[in-house]
Amino acid sequence: MATVALKDVMKVFADGTVAVDRVNLDVGQGEFMVLLGPSGCGKSTLLRMVAGLEDPTSGAVIMDGELANDLPPRERGVAMVFQDFALYPHMTVGENIGFPLRLSGVDAEPRAEQVAEVASALGIGDVLARKPGQLSGGQRQRVAMGRAIVRRPKLFLMDEPLSNLDSGLRAELRAEISGLVRELGVTTIYVTHDQAEALTMADRVAILRKGVLQDVGTPTQVYGRPATLYVAAFLGSPRMNLLEAEVYVHLDRHIALHMGDQVLHLPWNDLRSRQVAHFHGERIVIGVRAEALTPVPDTTSGDVLRGRIRYLEHHGHESLAFLDIGATAVIVDEIGNPPTDVPINGGGLRRFVSRLTGRGGSGSAEL
Ligand code: ATP
Repeated sequence: MATVALKDVMKVFADGTVAVDRVNLDVGQGEFMVLLGPSGCGKSTLLRMVAGLEDPTSGAVIMDGELANDLPPRERGVAMVFQDFALYPHMTVGENIGFPLRLSGVDAEPRAEQVAEVASALGIGDVLARKPGQLSGGQRQRVAMGRAIVRRPKLFLMDEPLSNLDSGLRAELRAEISGLVRELGVTTIYVTHDQAEALTMADRVAILRKGVLQDVGTPTQVYGRPATLYVAAFLGSPRMNLLEAEVYVHLDRHIALHMGDQVLHLPWNDLRSRQVAHFHGERIVIGVRAEALTPVPDTTSGDVLRGRIRYLEHHGHESLAFLDIGATAVIVDEIGNPPTDVPINGGGLRRFVSRLTGRGGSGSAEL
């Protein structure tokens, strides 16, 4: 097991591309850290710097408390798993898994024992004699995992290991991989652009955008209390509703959120809504998830936002209603079969306001 600390790590390629921009990140002993972000955000480059396959332009890669910038890859105790599996086509499954052991001079007999043990843990014990070309995608990925595990590394580095597989198999393997590495207790850094993968597998998720670290936290933290508007908009499907509002605190101690031509009143006796009061006189952005908004009958009075349905989207397990509420559009988890005019329960809004960011990034409040 290993710890990894990145201190102000930067990578500027020869053509001037800033792939990683002063990233600070700590990965704890035995932790499963997922690097998440869109294509080109610098995830792979960051991973390759931890592996020693790429040199940082500046900053420090620290492994187990020691500066590792100049440590060659083979001395870092890492095993990498890639999306293309990178198996040797002319070798059998058994030879592929045992290859790292052969390289480090382990004799045939103990090698075969260790290979058999790993293969059986991965459920591929019965295909050891086959060549990679005779395997399914899922089996090939298990072989790649086996080859990484057999070395008993201190650190697993995985770069989109499931992206070449179909969605059913991906879901199955992501549970398998996260279960397996937790059982082994090996510290893991896992790169993906798939947020479902990130949120289901990670102990903590680090979200990157254009080389800059946006947020780090448990899946619940980054989903529920995103650190930046970018993360709020990036994470979750459907995307988070981001509503612009002007805040006014009234003398009778209630808070009014002016959204276009609608006003939503928040009570003073609610801790979260009271924190909104700090933004008196300011325009803010409120993030509200679709599942936090409930359609209510048109006759409901009081704290509701009124919207007109633009269209409905049916997803099998849920239906989403896309509404205009004046200047903005919101997405709501639809319950039942609503009429065309849908007041949205402000109680939901009140309870789930999760984070506010002042316009232009000026000031924010953790709720
Ligand atoms: P993907 O998910 O598509 O693999 P990524 O988030 O892993 O993307 P990187 O591969 O780390 O992103 O690339 C980050 C940025 O650095 C991109 O703009 C990419 O084009 C650039 N880049 C990567 N390698 C090089 C290189 N050798 N020379 C110049 N630019 C590079």
